[in-house]
Amino acid sequence: MSSAERILDLRTQLHRYNHAYYIEDKSLVSDQEFDQLLKELQLLEAEHPELFDPNSPTQRVGGAVTKNFPTAVHAQPMYSLDNTYSPEELGDWIKRIEKIHGEAIRDFTCELKFDGASINITYTHGVLQKAVTRGDGIQGDEVTANVKTIRNVPLHLRDVNLLDDFEIRGEIILPLAGFEAMNAKRLAQGEEAYRNPRNTASGSLKLQDSRETAQRPLQCFFYALAGKLPFATHWEALTQARQWGFPIHSSMQRVSTLEEMLTYIGHWGAKRANLPFEIDGVVIKVNAISVQESLGFTAKSPRWAISYKFKAAQVSTRLNSITYQVGRTGAITPVANLEPVLLSGTVVKRASLHNADQIEKLNLRIGDCVYVEKGGEIIPKIVGFDPQQRGAISDKIDYIAHCPSCQSPLVRLEGEAQHYCPNTAHCPPQIVGKIQHFAGRKAMDIEGLGSETIQLLFDQGLIGTIADLYRLKKEELLPLERMAEKSVDNLLHGLEISKQQPFYKLLFGLGIRHVGETVAKRLAQHFGSMNALMSSTPEELLGIDDVGQKIGESLGEYFSQAENRQMIFDLTDLGLQMVAAQVQSTSDAFAGKTIVVSGVFAQYSRNEWKQMIEENGGKLGSSISSKTTFVLAGDAMGPSKKQKAEQLDIPMLSESEVLKLLGI
Ligand code: AMP
Ligand code: ZN
Repeated sequence: MSSAERILDLRTQLHRYNHAYYIEDKSLVSDQEFDQLLKELQLLEAEHPELFDPNSPTQRVGGAVTKNFPTAVHAQPMYSLDNTYSPEELGDWIKRIEKIHGEAIRDFTCELKFDGASINITYTHGVLQKAVTRGDGIQGDEVTANVKTIRNVPLHLRDVNLLDDFEIRGEIILPLAGFEAMNAKRLAQGEEAYRNPRNTASGSLKLQDSRETAQRPLQCFFYALAGKLPFATHWEALTQARQWGFPIHSSMQRVSTLEEMLTYIGHWGAKRANLPFEIDGVVIKVNAISVQESLGFTAKSPRWAISYKFKAAQVSTRLNSITYQVGRTGAITPVANLEPVLLSGTVVKRASLHNADQIEKLNLRIGDCVYVEKGGEIIPKIVGFDPQQRGAISDKIDYIAHCPSCQSPLVRLEGEAQHYCPNTAHCPPQIVGKIQHFAGRKAMDIEGLGSETIQLLFDQGLIGTIADLYRLKKEELLPLERMAEKSVDNLLHGLEISKQQPFYKLLFGLGIRHVGETVAKRLAQHFGSMNALMSSTPEELLGIDDVGQKIGESLGEYFSQAENRQMIFDLTDLGLQMVAAQVQSTSDAFAGKTIVVSGVFAQYSRNEWKQMIEENGGKLGSSISSKTTFVLAGDAMGPSKKQKAEQLDIPMLSESEVLKLLGI
């Protein structure tokens, strides 16, 4: 067999196994065998770039990097749906459309309303061409490379001869188990949890690196074909689509009357809590395409379909106690400990209560039977209590006056809802929180140093400040639980490498109140070094973009503390970066080039960019023309400018690409 034949053979086999696994729920080969075949195909494809196929099963693992997702117009607009919330409203809808149609309608479909991100995919001769997000309904972002990594989205259809070209709509979702696994991993790395599966699913479609999307356990369920189609009913269209290889959820059903719709709604309303993914309602559609056409659309939605929204999932349970957590800035968050209860597929044991006012407002007592609700957010909240079930003697909740960890009297600043523990330097959870923040991905990104390890090192008395991290010794670490030689080496190596992180990351990592990533970058650029920043005056600080009085005061307060100054000296001695990488302020890197600056940037302000371009010999262009060498394109660049640049074939470079040209 020639390589070309083998490649085709492997592709066909792998497509078939994928289909069996993801659509029919059958395993035809072991995971190992599958991986082996895939690897063989990857190698062969690498040797034969001329045989590249954008829909090869190897594309599932991703690889394409997209900087800016191109905008694409939907051939048919993607409408939203009108909502109903009660059987009466649903009955009114049927009467309304029957009146417009002029006769009774007795043929409907009921489907689940999947709660994710909608997608519109174009297939030509059975091959996936293009996947576009809903966007504003008229046009969306083309995210084809990312969608191709979703395992149950077919890249090739089986024997679809009858249509050259069609669009199919579906909802991309993140099943709950996968979502929770992603969050567990993030929390272990000291990062904030994702808020809910829906936002995480739509965020996953906009990742620049499709390999990252491939890592996420996304799924798609399709619910409509669009365009002129040779089907008499919606049911027929989806049944056909299922045969072509599309995942169409088995819950779809045909009904004739309001009563049957309500039975379907009741059934899935009850089953919803046990589904492996989130739904927010049921969608009812007129089945006959001819009747759909006679009903048409309003400006916003089809008249022939409607959604029936479920109320936010709610259960009642007992409020056992309240614990108070201390964050890295000293902010106190009360957390309700509940009698464990099943809600939307997960066991809920805790709910956030935000602050003292919230507890007061809800008028809660320990022992109350409380109502817990999970809306779009993953952290459930208490929405009320049942007064009937409150005992005669119940404990009123007295908000704590002292820090639960270090016993310092709490303070509450004028106009702020949160209580704080003011003992920033010595309160254990604050110390640990600060070190966790420092090591986190957005700050120093220290490999091998997750939140739990930091807690362990602190509990063992090995670290009390950020600087102590860099004084850790192999022989101290080895005796610790869960610290094999390899993880110790890993950790020490990670720490060593992190010393090279740029100054602005270090500055952000210190966790100075109000000094977020952007402010840290600005300060690093402006002052160029920790020394210059520490000796700056309040007036000088106020003169910098994005830096206001609050930030100035917070910096002043931070540097006024001897412990903080000492730690900075220590970190300097230990070899961390206290000086910003210098911008090559004068060069001829841009000599003879005309550059247009458009949009907003993360690292430098627009004005700073203009200055840098001139200092490096470039000429600033005010509008895009054939004379423009390239556009320095930031976020939120205007669509007309983008279009112009595309028309004239002028390259659009990102901030980091242009920094590279300057050797920064
Ligand atoms: P809404 O965003 O509330 O206006 O609802 C419309 C959206 O519901 C569509 O854009 C789809 O993304 C989504 N949806 C989820 N499941 C279905 C379904 N079975 N049929 C139609 N739309 C659905
Ligand atoms: Zn404290």
